[in-house]
Amino acid sequence: MNVEQVYKDANALLEGHFLLASGNHSNRYLQSAKVLEYPKKASQLTDALAKMIRESGIEVDTVCAPALGGVLAGYELARSLDVRSIFVEKKEGGMELRRGFEVKEGEKVIICEDIITTGGSAVKAAKAIEALGAKVVAFASLANRGFCKRSGSTTEAKPECKLPNDIPLFSLDDFTFEMFTPDECPMCKEGSIAIKPGSKN
Ligand code: ZN
Repeated sequence: MNVEQVYKDANALLEGHFLLASGNHSNRYLQSAKVLEYPKKASQLTDALAKMIRESGIEVDTVCAPALGGVLAGYELARSLDVRSIFVEKKEGGMELRRGFEVKEGEKVIICEDIITTGGSAVKAAKAIEALGAKVVAFASLANRGFCKRSGSTTEAKPECKLPNDIPLFSLDDFTFEMFTPDECPMCKEGSIAIKPGSKN
């Protein structure tokens, strides 16, 4: 599967002039919710991800996603792996299980996101689950922004990556974009104005 093409076809891989949350500018942006608009396509992606996880030999009881971004990817991955799906939600300083969701002592959990940038939300989800006695056996995401090392890739993790080194990250592809400070941005120099993409518009 050509994962980048799947994202392009879904208009999830945007090209333009973007102001990122970090304050840097980029000519590409991954609007990762768009690739999940069509459930059949979403399940093809998570089938491929589930295959990687199965081939690694890791056993999984449950997929847990950090809400809101990870919920659809997590649900589809759980379907592909034929396991349970739960999600954690934001609270002050971290995440927590609500709505009657429970985990058992020693339950093997994969934390699933639609996209891993530095992995901050995924780590908070992992902490919430581990505090209840479950064991995080892997992280998974459809897309990896290239800060963290995905299983099978030779590209090493960057210092920004918050995921632990000793737990694997399964991801379909790396999406490493060039980034510029506003002062050095070639698109700004051409007079164009960076727009702010993201989850709020
Ligand atoms: Zn710019």
